[in-house]
Amino acid sequence: MMGDLTASTDSPRAPQGSSRPKIRLFLEGRYQKLVRDLPQTVFFCPTCKGRGRMKGQPCTRCNGFGKLTKDSVQELIERVAMPRFRSWKSKFHGAGREDVDVRMLGDGRPFILEIMNPKHPMADLTELEDAINRAYPDRIVVKGLQLVPRARVAELKEAKHPKEYAALVRTQSPVAPGKLEALLNRKLMIRQRTPERVAHRRADMDRQRWIELLSAQTLESGDLRILLRCEHGTYVKEVISGEGGRTEPSLSELLGTPCTCVELDVAAILAADPVPAKNP
Ligand SMILES: [Zn+2]
Repeated sequence: MMGDLTASTDSPRAPQGSSRPKIRLFLEGRYQKLVRDLPQTVFFCPTCKGRGRMKGQPCTRCNGFGKLTKDSVQELIERVAMPRFRSWKSKFHGAGREDVDVRMLGDGRPFILEIMNPKHPMADLTELEDAINRAYPDRIVVKGLQLVPRARVAELKEAKHPKEYAALVRTQSPVAPGKLEALLNRKLMIRQRTPERVAHRRADMDRQRWIELLSAQTLESGDLRILLRCEHGTYVKEVISGEGGRTEPSLSELLGTPCTCVELDVAAILAADPVPAKNP
């Protein structure tokens, strides 16, 4: 399939010779992330803010690299896509994001790559998709690439998707099967304060969210394998641990023993909640 020219242009009043982008393409698709060491977007070093240097010396946190990981989903996709569009600048928009150590499985997560001033806007999207998937077969899978109107970026950012998570949970003491069964398939309201690990970049606030335990299995090791459905914006690791009472109730509280999340995967991004109707 050839990409159709759904390019959007900046305001016609932009002054001539301005360096503002003149054409942008919006390439939408979904990505799966098969590994636990890959951030969604460029992971700039917070110490030197991506500069790589502090007071004229190489930054010791990132060894002068400016980033804390070599790659990200964004960079893997750009590395293959950008030469094909003959563009040198892009932005990555995700429908939410998962932690670095969380895999993104199921049907993948919607994203849009915004491509500035492509000199070759007619790249073959089927070939591009194949090329990305051949380049990183064990790390990411990309599918459904298509050019979309610019308005999709706002829709993607605002959509509130419930999600399903598969987690491996370690409990301090064994859990009676009856306790787990009693929790299954019940929507529970929780109160969650912004986790300490993200409080430096997110407003510290309480939120109410629903969660639902869909399945739970005790493994031979004693760990639990659970499938949890959550409202958008739920911090799942803290739903499991409780984070010392910042999330309640938590799995720790409900099972009566401290629980920790050992491994987490996003198993499904469900259809977005309907957008509430505006008042007439
Ligand atoms: Zn640094």
